[in-house]
Amino acid sequence: MIGYPITPKALRAQIKAHDSKWLTKAAAETKKLKHGQKVDKSMWSDVKPVYMKLQHGKCAFCETLLGKQIDFDLIKQDVEHFRPKNGVDPWPTEKLRNKLKLPTDLPQSTHTAKGYTFLAYHELNYASSCKTCNSTLKSNYFPTIKKPVTAGKNPVTLTKSEQPYLIYPIGDFDVVPEKTITFLGLLPVPANGATQQPDHDRARVTIAFFGLSIRDDLMYGRALLLDQVGDKFKLLAATNVPTEQADLNKEIDILCSPATPYSSCLNAFVLLWRNKPDKAREMLKIVKAYLAGFGEK
Ligand SMILES: [Zn+2]
Repeated sequence: MIGYPITPKALRAQIKAHDSKWLTKAAAETKKLKHGQKVDKSMWSDVKPVYMKLQHGKCAFCETLLGKQIDFDLIKQDVEHFRPKNGVDPWPTEKLRNKLKLPTDLPQSTHTAKGYTFLAYHELNYASSCKTCNSTLKSNYFPTIKKPVTAGKNPVTLTKSEQPYLIYPIGDFDVVPEKTITFLGLLPVPANGATQQPDHDRARVTIAFFGLSIRDDLMYGRALLLDQVGDKFKLLAATNVPTEQADLNKEIDILCSPATPYSSCLNAFVLLWRNKPDKAREMLKIVKAYLAGFGEK
């Protein structure tokens, strides 16, 4: 998971540039909600391209590349309401506990509440996400430490008062995902920057909630790219030619850019290679073995 830093003002400007009337319509729909009137229940899809572009075509939570070409990729992703609009259910259920292989000591959220009605049209309550993260896993769940304040109208202040377990990666008001979740090889773990609470639990819950350490497609995707980065580091270690070194460093930088799927995993591996190359080489062997055995899984 990576952050997509943007100020609320800049996000609104991007929405306006995409659809000059959307923000005005959103304000009008929110007003209707206050009066219990019928509203447009699909207009958030109109701004999906804004989030697709901002997120480099990646899912906000699992970093799978879904694409950002409107003609082809729109269908693959959802505008996910970070705070659910239709209701909040306790998390996890017994079924999810089994499906996600959750550790027994993982924090849980027993709150039940109505949906965050007033955030249905709030641009800081949206993210573009894959269907597995949004429909299969996120659904109507929004685990929080404190009681959910579903009458809230501002995600920025709600983040402080509710203390959600899940990390919102867009904007500048939640924790930085890369400083909260890092990777040991292919596996996501709480980062050194998240040793304190509640950040440590937030990292653990976010990893578990989205199945980030158990989904084969994510593990395989990370492995393919990490293998490439590792091979470039091996070439780098074997050459003294400055132009070759410069080219390889450039290629590593490109592979680890925010636009690459699973870049948070790749950047953690780069850091490991630069600080503990022997450990990184061992990790690379494990990854190669994982790739070699993947077909038999
Ligand atoms: Zn996803």
